[in-house]
Amino acid sequence: MPVSELVYAIIVYIFIFLFGITIGSFLNVCIYRLPKEESLIKRNSHCMTCGAEIKRYDLIPVFSWLILKGKCRSCGEKISPRYCIIESLNGILYVLVFMYYDFMYSPVKAILVCLLLSALIVVFFMDWDTQLISNYVVLFIGILGILDYLRWQFKVDLFHIDDADLKSRIIGFFAVSLILLIIELASKGKAMGRGDVYLMAAAGLFLGVKAVAAAFMIGLITGSIAGIIIKKTTGGSKFAFGPWLSLGIAVCAIWGNQLADLYLRFAGFIH
Ligand SMILES: [Zn+2]
Repeated sequence: MPVSELVYAIIVYIFIFLFGITIGSFLNVCIYRLPKEESLIKRNSHCMTCGAEIKRYDLIPVFSWLILKGKCRSCGEKISPRYCIIESLNGILYVLVFMYYDFMYSPVKAILVCLLLSALIVVFFMDWDTQLISNYVVLFIGILGILDYLRWQFKVDLFHIDDADLKSRIIGFFAVSLILLIIELASKGKAMGRGDVYLMAAAGLFLGVKAVAAAFMIGLITGSIAGIIIKKTTGGSKFAFGPWLSLGIAVCAIWGNQLADLYLRFAGFIH
């Protein structure tokens, strides 16, 4: 690769990272305000300890937290590193997704997967904190699924990623969500919430049936392990499945079909 191309690529990835941490900052606002049904665009942020309004120049994602060494400018109290971690995570994921899909060849797929991962970060942390999954976020995931179908149907990317067709997405919408609905009704909402049902329906539109089944398996396995660890360490029964389902959806948005094929081959269904 010539030096000029390398420099160009590095500059593009720096911009993608900066864009990613800015969106990450908005994700923090969503995670904090959606459960309280507060406005997402109201601009003022306050210190959780002293209530001082955080100045505009202290609201730069990641960098402000690093410059202030994780402390509030007015009272010096520690600001949770979680905000900075979520911003960095979103920025790093955007860079990795754009590298994986190549921003020159499949930018539309890359943008849709980035937005999906951001929505899943909100589901992960909000469900972890409150045992709630926002219907707005699930609706957003469903819309991304429809846009991803249109990308597939009209081959909009220069390099076309051929994944789930319309039939697979429609079956995917019902496949896991119906199972979860039965579990939810049978357990009267104790084993599974209605939010989990809607989440897997919306995810099915994006992933198609094979990948959404793989996502569900990853969710079940990681969720069961996490459930056992949480029960052993805290003794609490407060546990949400949404974070683990979103982890499965995130992995399978990229590798779902490969994982499903690997499993089917391993189980002897295909050769
Ligand atoms: Zn303060």
